Amino acid sequence: SSIRQKTVEKNILTSVYKDIPVTNMTINDFVWQNLDRWPDKTATVCALTGHGYTYAQTHRMSVTFAASLRSKLKLKNDDKVAVILPNLPEYPCTLLGILQAGCVASMMNPVYTSHELKRQLELIDCKAIVSSKISYANIKQALDELKVNVPIILVDNEGLPEGAIKFAELAEDFNVDIDCLKSVQRGPKDVAILPFSSGTTGFPKAVVLDHGGVVALNQMIIDPEIVVIEETTATHQSVLPAILPFFHIFGFNSLMMNQMAQGVKLVTMPYFKPDLFLQTIVKYKAEVLFIVPPMVVFLGKHPAVKPEHLAAVKGMISGAAPLSAADAAAVLEKNKNIIFRQGYGLTETNGAVTVGRNDDTNHAAVGHVLGSCEVKVADVNTQEALGAGQEGEIWCRGPNLMSGYYLDEKSTREVMTEDGWYKTGDIGKYDENKYLYVTDRLKELIKVKGFQVPPAELETVIRTHSKVLDCAVLGIPDPVTGEVPKAFIVPQQGQTLDADELLEYVNSKVAVFKKIKEVQFVEEIPKNSAGKILRKQLKEKYC
Ligand code: AMP
Repeated sequence: SSIRQKTVEKNILTSVYKDIPVTNMTINDFVWQNLDRWPDKTATVCALTGHGYTYAQTHRMSVTFAASLRSKLKLKNDDKVAVILPNLPEYPCTLLGILQAGCVASMMNPVYTSHELKRQLELIDCKAIVSSKISYANIKQALDELKVNVPIILVDNEGLPEGAIKFAELAEDFNVDIDCLKSVQRGPKDVAILPFSSGTTGFPKAVVLDHGGVVALNQMIIDPEIVVIEETTATHQSVLPAILPFFHIFGFNSLMMNQMAQGVKLVTMPYFKPDLFLQTIVKYKAEVLFIVPPMVVFLGKHPAVKPEHLAAVKGMISGAAPLSAADAAAVLEKNKNIIFRQGYGLTETNGAVTVGRNDDTNHAAVGHVLGSCEVKVADVNTQEALGAGQEGEIWCRGPNLMSGYYLDEKSTREVMTEDGWYKTGDIGKYDENKYLYVTDRLKELIKVKGFQVPPAELETVIRTHSKVLDCAVLGIPDPVTGEVPKAFIVPQQGQTLDADELLEYVNSKVAVFKKIKEVQFVEEIPKNSAGKILRKQLKEKYC
């Protein structure tokens, strides 16, 4: 088992939840363990079109898709398949099919530009791509620039570009021989998914998460002291709007995998639009909402959201970015019976490290350490484990950790210690009641609406502008999105550079949520002797 012996180190924050059981389950085993209890219940339905699938259909399509990947596309164990899709009813069958085929799924944001996709596609060297028409042109351009040619499978039914493969032809060809799957053996140590995270510094890296780690996290969060949805029975099925993107680890595990294992109806939303979100909550009588802070603010503060809209909501969990207790309180003013909690985690920890208990009222905290996990708040200078009330870097250890960054040992070594701790790059503290608080960020990462915006990526784009000598990007607070990127620019000598010109240049190359909102021209960027940007100093000087 990967579950560690209980530590005897001093000042280690341990769980209030039960340890998870040891299993050899794959993700597919975990998700389908209760399939025979609800085959005809709806698994997914699209909030826009009403189109969807039952659990039995989802299962059958995933197995058929798996067999097609092996027999028609000749994929082998550990081949990488990129999934570049918004939340659609086809997402779970795609993902579970890739895993069933013994392959590895790498999820990417469908709004990424060709420039952003190119780097990620190059890194994972994928053998196939599953996507939709909205991302096709960007994928094609990225592949052309890389001079590679891989099959592109599109989930759309009509107007497919020439050369693209129709998803339904692979997932709904029930004549395909599924016997080829018999030889596919997968276990806890096999790599399952490669989502992307920039970690504490630099560019997005592919995070290696194996079947064992994903299943461990799912067991941790299915604890009876955490779950609030009612059990699926012949007469009851809870509904959850799937608004968090499945390509992000929070949506992947907490929504897709965990809720499907419980027979929940997922109402998939391909994008966030306040009206659609609210209509969906009301129309489907959503029972639990997994959301990010800007959505909490919308539900709590927006005058269009009335108490009756939230009448059926029993629970809410906010994660992926900082939330103030006041924003949680605003939601509770509209429905005081809502069980509101925060969760905290990272892609590198399978999405969660802490979650509040289902009787929690401390909304400033991010909850308690999950079962079989440990947290240490380490002094940033001495790395000594600090006691209650003292701020330091949050480290965590448990069976939900990544095994490392894909093909990047150097970055892995920077964040993982020899005795199994992962250094999160977040600053926090805990109290006497074992609540963890996230108070600041040591790492350079910017988060916009819960999405990662790695400053290094924007800085590299800015530096390609001929009139820029040097630059740095920082996140500055924003009341709506949490943070926005701001660029500090040193122009080339003798050049006059217009802020609008620069914004247009950079923002055309990045996804919409990464766009720089502000530019400030400065004389120099503070750096240490190794040339590393001194971000704290820069912030103190100009922000
Ligand atoms: P990601 O890998 O995209 O999930 O990003 C992980 C980062 O999001 C963490 O390292 C934190 O900086 C931030 N984060 C996640 N959950 C919370 C939370 N509840 N409060 C504050 N920051 C959070």
